[in-house]
Amino acid sequence: MRNVFIFNAGPAVLPEPVLESTSKAAINFANTGMSIMEVSHRSKEFDALMNETISLLQKIMGIPENYKVLFLQGGASLQFAMVPINLLGAGKVADYIDTGSWSSTAIKEAKKIGKVNIAGSSKAEDYTRIPSADELSLTPDAAYCHITSNNTIYGSQWQSFPDTKGVPLVADMSSDILSRQIDVSKFGLIYAGAQKNMGPAGVTVVIIRDDLVDLAPENTPTMLKYSTHVSKNSMHNTCPVMAIFVVHEVLNWIIDQGGVSAIEKINEKKAALIYEILDSGDFYRGTVQKGSRSRMNIPFRLPSEDLEKEFLAGAAKKNLVGLKGHRSVGGIRASIYNALPIEGAQRLADYMVEFAKGKA
Ligand SMILES: *Cc1c(COP(=O)(O)O)cnc(C)c1O
Repeated sequence: MRNVFIFNAGPAVLPEPVLESTSKAAINFANTGMSIMEVSHRSKEFDALMNETISLLQKIMGIPENYKVLFLQGGASLQFAMVPINLLGAGKVADYIDTGSWSSTAIKEAKKIGKVNIAGSSKAEDYTRIPSADELSLTPDAAYCHITSNNTIYGSQWQSFPDTKGVPLVADMSSDILSRQIDVSKFGLIYAGAQKNMGPAGVTVVIIRDDLVDLAPENTPTMLKYSTHVSKNSMHNTCPVMAIFVVHEVLNWIIDQGGVSAIEKINEKKAALIYEILDSGDFYRGTVQKGSRSRMNIPFRLPSEDLEKEFLAGAAKKNLVGLKGHRSVGGIRASIYNALPIEGAQRLADYMVEFAKGKA
């Protein structure tokens, strides 16, 4: 057992059993005598792994049969472009809800492709909350409506999803996929960079409903069409073999934990340990309004930047690492993804109490 607790926002902590099985496969994958980095993506061993990874994800998330699962490259950031390239047909409008840095980056990209309507925004309030349902101005015949389910930098999270009345709901779930149960059938498309909650950097999961696969204009470059990747089972070109292997291991680990429902309960406990302290005095100040708080990324401030520096240095001495807030907002951010053990959240909570007492 290692004794460092990793609060990195991404790439982020991975479960120890996953690191162990990956280190074995780095030498000898599936008794081939070859490393997972050396096998062909066209080999029968890897093909089996790819199909098993897809069926594990289908099972764990309850993905209905009329959806395809893709493992792509280019990160969530490429999806900011691929979504409008494929789904935002000429003369159509896409609704975007702006809840933080990643949403606004997605909006910037979509505007290069077509017409965007900002159907809701909390920008004027420094992204301290998720807009409520009655604040949204959704377009009845929009090509799709895009949300960021969890705002990794600002620390807010959709608690329930907007009813788009038949318009496909597209969600960037990079930082909370597999952290809570969701009804996939409510979404047209879900995407997530793996490096927060489901694996290493280098692979991005896309879950897409059948009717949205083949909507890209004819002249779209091959690699940017969802239909290319669907028809080739994500192996049009060399897929990120090693990263997909790690996702496979993470999915098995989730099953060993009791599935997403069990993980969700632990995540709630982990988050409660930190939020209790933010709410119990004036020393720490949570930056997100109560009804919008994330269970994955918890940003907070101390009374001064000097104290924040001291807090981070003291945390590192206790092997609590990766707690510095995003450079664009400062402060502290505790990212407590699935793979962070509850002991890690408890140690951070204990340290927070101790640090505040020392300054009283
Ligand atoms: C990290 C993150 C991204 C960017 O992901 P890349 O894979 O680095 O492109 C996008 N959206 C959200 C919500 C994120 O947390």
